[in-house]
Amino acid sequence: MNSPFSCSRLLKLSGGFFVGDRTRCQEPQTICIDSREAGPRSLFVPLKGERTDGHLHIESAIAAGSSAVLVEQDWAEAHSKTLQNWAAQYPVLFFPVQDTLKQMQELAAAHRARFSKLKVVGVTGSNGKTTTKEMIASVLETMGRTYKNQGNLNSEIGLPLTVLRMNKEYDFAVLEMGINHVGEMDVLVDIARPGTALITNIGSAHIGYLGSKRKIAEEKRKIFSLFKKSNRAFINENEPFGDVLTENLQGILHRYGERSLSELQEVQDLGLEGQRLVFTDCTIRLALPGYHNLNNALAAIAVSRSLGARWDQIREGLESLGAVFGRSQILKGRVDIVQDCYNANPDSVLAAVKMFSAMPARGRRILVLGDMLELGEESEVAHKTIGKALTDSPVDQAFFFGSEMKAAFDEYQLTGKGAFHTDDYRTLEKMLLTASEPGDLVLLKGSRGMELERLAAPLLEER
Ligand code: ATP
Ligand code: MG
Repeated sequence: MNSPFSCSRLLKLSGGFFVGDRTRCQEPQTICIDSREAGPRSLFVPLKGERTDGHLHIESAIAAGSSAVLVEQDWAEAHSKTLQNWAAQYPVLFFPVQDTLKQMQELAAAHRARFSKLKVVGVTGSNGKTTTKEMIASVLETMGRTYKNQGNLNSEIGLPLTVLRMNKEYDFAVLEMGINHVGEMDVLVDIARPGTALITNIGSAHIGYLGSKRKIAEEKRKIFSLFKKSNRAFINENEPFGDVLTENLQGILHRYGERSLSELQEVQDLGLEGQRLVFTDCTIRLALPGYHNLNNALAAIAVSRSLGARWDQIREGLESLGAVFGRSQILKGRVDIVQDCYNANPDSVLAAVKMFSAMPARGRRILVLGDMLELGEESEVAHKTIGKALTDSPVDQAFFFGSEMKAAFDEYQLTGKGAFHTDDYRTLEKMLLTASEPGDLVLLKGSRGMELERLAAPLLEER
């Protein structure tokens, strides 16, 4: 399959205009938006962000070997001399376009259209997207060639990159689609065009940008918006926003969950070792603990069965799956750690604490909670609510970290339970190392920006 960003395609986008010597330049074969990832024969797409502008890194990208660069027209006009100089110095072509992000998205949509037989599963929702995407992909891999987003590349930037990197024929693609503002799902769905789509749940992740849970539901349901009658939509049987999600749905609706799956007979809790799912015809050992991961697995089972998976394939796929970084990861050492700090919002904190509370502990249970970010105006109330909700949990000691968590700490402290708050990472680490004893069970939960995984190594180390 030829490159989705060949010079002739790029020429069309830029209205046939480029800067450089086409005879010296090699067709780009890879794509990147970060100049540190640029290599020989790459297309570099500089994006304008809130903090930085990728155009500032063009020279590093071409020095590293980028052979083609999209540039925004305004920038190209203001820097025409520089562009000419670079074009004389390096074998590179510049393609001026109005909006580099939009062009990358259009390239991705055009590339997706070339895979007419590909079965695409779209996964969205407030929590559990990556986990469920990995579970579905792991099952589908037992059935055919399966493509998926690397890690969490799920946004209006990550999804087009994911699709543009799909460079050969696959039978299935499982695409995580994450949004944090209104209108983003329209862009994502146009790129992914899923024939099967799952909404894991509606919670309050990114509520600061999206407004309300109803608005979040209205945005996420757009994942079904290009459906025809034969397409399949999956939502949880307990989803409170189910009616909103399925309003005017074209296609077949499936509800998944414990009640909807008649073959499910029993779920056995194996503590830190995960859980065992007993079905009529098979038993599946899931390494991931927690009720939320049971739901993620049931979603993956429902979706993969609709695509023809047999029970032995489902078992093979789910059993071969370990934890993904920062999601229900169990680390063992001086203390046992549940490393669940890839992200945090009110629903995922409650899910994690519920899982943590049910786990067998050799020693005491120590909770470390970092700020839940991106909650906008709701932040203070959300943190307070979490602080209050925690008071019922069997936690021996709680550490609250970050300025937003002060509200949770204040609320929690009212109960007279042992707790500590700080904004300073060094202090947190020191206090935690002093307080923890061999055999304790520690939950690390916080938003990505809080980087609670920094605590894992010092906590695990024998002293
Ligand atoms: P992101 O929006 O950052 O991409 P995500 O939706 O991909 O997140 P995961 O990375 O799979 O979600 O999981 C992140 C955290 O969310 C987990 O560590 C866990 O605490 C919580 N979580 C996972 N699945 C669920 C679920 N089904 N319901 C509630 N919380 C969940
Ligand atoms: Mg994710």
